[in-house]
Amino acid sequence: MKIPILDLKPQYESIKEEIQTAISHVLESGQFIMGPEVKEFEQEVAQYLGVKHAIGVNSGTDALVIGLKALGIAEGDEVITTPFSFFATAESISNVGAKPVFVDIDPISFNINPKAIKAKITSRTKAIMPVHLYGCPASMAQIINIAQAHDLKVIEDCAQSFGARYYGDNTSTAINGKHTGTIGDVGAYSFFPSKNLGAYGDGGLIVTDNDQVAELARALRVHGAKKKYHNEMLGYNSRLDALQAAILRVKLKYIDTWNQGRYRVAKTYNHLLADVAGIITPELVKGHVFHQYTIRVTDGKRDEVKEFLAFEGIGSMIYYPISQDQLPVYQGQHEINPMSELLSGEVLSLPIWAELQKEVQAEVTNKIISALRKTISAVA
Ligand SMILES: *Cc1c(COP(=O)(O)O)cnc(C)c1O
Repeated sequence: MKIPILDLKPQYESIKEEIQTAISHVLESGQFIMGPEVKEFEQEVAQYLGVKHAIGVNSGTDALVIGLKALGIAEGDEVITTPFSFFATAESISNVGAKPVFVDIDPISFNINPKAIKAKITSRTKAIMPVHLYGCPASMAQIINIAQAHDLKVIEDCAQSFGARYYGDNTSTAINGKHTGTIGDVGAYSFFPSKNLGAYGDGGLIVTDNDQVAELARALRVHGAKKKYHNEMLGYNSRLDALQAAILRVKLKYIDTWNQGRYRVAKTYNHLLADVAGIITPELVKGHVFHQYTIRVTDGKRDEVKEFLAFEGIGSMIYYPISQDQLPVYQGQHEINPMSELLSGEVLSLPIWAELQKEVQAEVTNKIISALRKTISAVA
């Protein structure tokens, strides 16, 4: 049986008619960039997330870049972030002229270790950019506390965490239960097709409760013009198009159901892989939306397991094989982050989507167990 890492067809089949109606509606309207569909989507998504402003842009990467600019991050500033993420995270910081300062990760959540942040704060530090990797909320209570104590902005990279909620660690705080992206000053989302809320093309979103930041972000996405042709600053061409907005409006209605489906898939995997020596399964954190279901394969066996799965027709991925700080683009500029380094050699993401069936999951995990047996007998 061939099992891909992601199959978007079952989701499409379940909403096909609604999507086609939404698309025809846009085609007949003749309004393709911004316009009423984008406005409606922005209002609906702001309401869903529980935030004052939502600003549609071209991609998650643009949401990060424009979000940073709208917060006033510029040349000479330092932004603290995680080394263990997709390169768009650090790239956005570098692209506004600032310097990414990496703080090592916590091996349970795969996210930035809040205890290690303070030591990296300097007089140039202006912001912290946590990533809710794989859909697992970062330690926002601790991050917000540090940010407030040192007068830093917080911009959340929510590209993998649409719909996730933060529940903290038993200490009841004012932010418990809030959606990721609405806790810091700015949240940045991606609608890349494989993300939890995926468009059928590129798209992104900036959210904030701050009126001035929102006004700036709205201007930055249209060449720095608050009023058309009255450009006040250098901006971007980074608009969300009406087709994607119309598609996202349909999909937004189902996101909680789909995220619950992902959580159920993760729970089943954890059950199937419980007590398998050489595998560390992820924690079923409350509010997690499992953009990826990522295990750790210890003892240097990850690549062999991955190859065996590929041979058996089962898709798996390594997110991410190289820690951001050690990418060729930053060669020699950053010291090693040992935990990030270790995990980049151990992580393996398995097939996950909301409709994935138990029997198919069992096929995946049986093959993982066979692969581990094979590597053991090869050694013996
Ligand atoms: C996907 C992703 C991005 C970038 O989103 P795009 O829409 O592809 O530009 C940024 N950060 C993280 C963590 C991502 O996974």
